[in-house]
Amino acid sequence: MRYDVVVLGGALAGASAALLLRRKDPSLRVLILERGSEFDWKVGESTVEVSGYFLTRVLRLYDHLSREQLPKHGLRYWFHDGRVARLEEASETGARQLPRLPAFQLDRARLDEHALSQAAREGAELWRPAKAVDVVLPEERGSRDGLVRVEREGETLEVEAGWIVDASGRSAVVARKRGWIRPIEEHPISAVWARYRDVRDLDGPEAEPGPPLPSSRRLATNHFNGYGYWIWFIPLRGGETSVGAVWDRRLVEPRGTTSEERLRWFLEGNPLARLLVKGAAPVPGDLRSYANLPYRVERVAGRGWSLAGDAAGFLDPFYSPGIDQLAFTVAGAVELAVRSRTEEGAAEVAASLDEHNRLYRGYFDGLFHAIYRDKYHLMGDYDAMTAAFLIDTALYYFFVAIPLYKKGPERLLKPPFYDRYAAVPRALIGAYRRRLVSIARRKLRLGIYGDRNRGRRPGLMGFSLGLGAWIMLLHGLVRWGRLELANAWTYIARPRPLRAGMPGPIALPETAPDRPLAREAPAPTLAGRP
Ligand SMILES: Cc1cc2nc3c(=O)[nH]c(=O)nc-3n(C[C@H](O)[C@H](O)[C@H](O)COP(=O)(O)OP(=O)(O)OC[C@H]3O[C@@H](n4cnc5c(N)ncnc54)[C@H](O)[C@@H]3O)c2cc1C
Repeated sequence: MRYDVVVLGGALAGASAALLLRRKDPSLRVLILERGSEFDWKVGESTVEVSGYFLTRVLRLYDHLSREQLPKHGLRYWFHDGRVARLEEASETGARQLPRLPAFQLDRARLDEHALSQAAREGAELWRPAKAVDVVLPEERGSRDGLVRVEREGETLEVEAGWIVDASGRSAVVARKRGWIRPIEEHPISAVWARYRDVRDLDGPEAEPGPPLPSSRRLATNHFNGYGYWIWFIPLRGGETSVGAVWDRRLVEPRGTTSEERLRWFLEGNPLARLLVKGAAPVPGDLRSYANLPYRVERVAGRGWSLAGDAAGFLDPFYSPGIDQLAFTVAGAVELAVRSRTEEGAAEVAASLDEHNRLYRGYFDGLFHAIYRDKYHLMGDYDAMTAAFLIDTALYYFFVAIPLYKKGPERLLKPPFYDRYAAVPRALIGAYRRRLVSIARRKLRLGIYGDRNRGRRPGLMGFSLGLGAWIMLLHGLVRWGRLELANAWTYIARPRPLRAGMPGPIALPETAPDRPLAREAPAPTLAGRP
């Protein structure tokens, strides 16, 4: 049995790759192997500008998204200090206006199911349930075709493949067996999450989060931040809310031995998250966790194969870059598979694949070193986090979202930092991130971390493909400048530590790099609080 392309995994990455391959060349025989007979709900997820573009303009799933998923109203960050007990008292960063570009809050099981049936409707063959148990790459077989061994209906079958796309997510069928997966030790983050019912409605009659806005607070991706962690609230169609926490293990050590206890520790220790889940209940059996989230993959393509989605690496869910990375890797995998059928000259093909692997590493490492490294130091400080969010997002608009919307889907073949000369932007972006992290660390040591976490509500207009991005950049730069001045002043006049404590919950591991001079915010009990 032989197919032109065999796709391992039929969730969003696999279904998208199959769909785009069939659209690009309807003569291709494409087989999708999906292990599960139904999709898991995974995480309640948010799209951002690139993933929104990919789903609506490239995959053309706008109709499904508008009927079956919720629109997303931007990102919203909430900060607190030891005195803040109500949403109204918190500092809140988020746009006042409705978003200008399409974005969605996704129920992934629903989306994956729709994308997979669309791929089958457009001519891909689907085997489900069917598990790829072994893959022999063309380079290992010394043949033009690769080989996939599949377990299906109690039998083991062998399928030859002109091209293999591995979209098996964190199972990473191709990379794991070959030892190409590396945890990112400089970024030790963990996550735990569940769906909740009856979470308090931020726009509802009992809401008291502050002045009314044109945009909906409930429909935003709400982040409740503290030192070393963030908690997300993402509304889902059907009324449930995805709630989860991500933390840097160097900075926070949540109490509890089970994942459930750790999630409760975050939710009860953050006074604002606690308000939202008061009276809410987790969906039974729904809790998920990853002890170690990020990993990189050393090779993402070779002759006759390529990796897409999480099978090609995962960095951090902060700023929701997962489906962006999926869009870039799927576009790359489709391009390589289609080109491999027309290109001659083994040497040229090998050179272009080597170049792709090198540039892809540049993209992945660039994103990590420029944006994410040590970011969790500044998560809970309103000033540092707001400056970082505004500058990071404006640069994402200038270098990624605007070129994509203006120049079209070809830009998906050029992810950020995927460039021979990416070292310069990477160093510049890394420089302001390092400054903000270093200021946040000093604030923590002085006991003034989160000193403006109460009552600030900047009137931000939101990002757009036009002037909006420039205005937001200016806001970010001014805030960074002010933070530098305030920091410089602390060398002249030593500030008094915050009397009411810093944003909790704080539980520093023994090896924590910064120990605050102020007393720690009281750790919450694990038992329910009134
Ligand atoms: C805590 C957390 C929060 C996140 N939040 C966001 C967010 O807000 N926004 C965002 O864009 N991204 C987010 N992500 C990232 C996002 O979930 C992933 O990037 C995305 O799910 C990747 O999709 P995928 O299709 O590559 O992999 P998956 O969705 O994992 O799909 C892999 C598929 O392969 C199948 N499979 C596995 N092994 C085999 C096999 N041997 N044979 C056949 N089939 C197989 C599986 O059954 C599955 O269906 C988050 C991730 C985490 C961990």
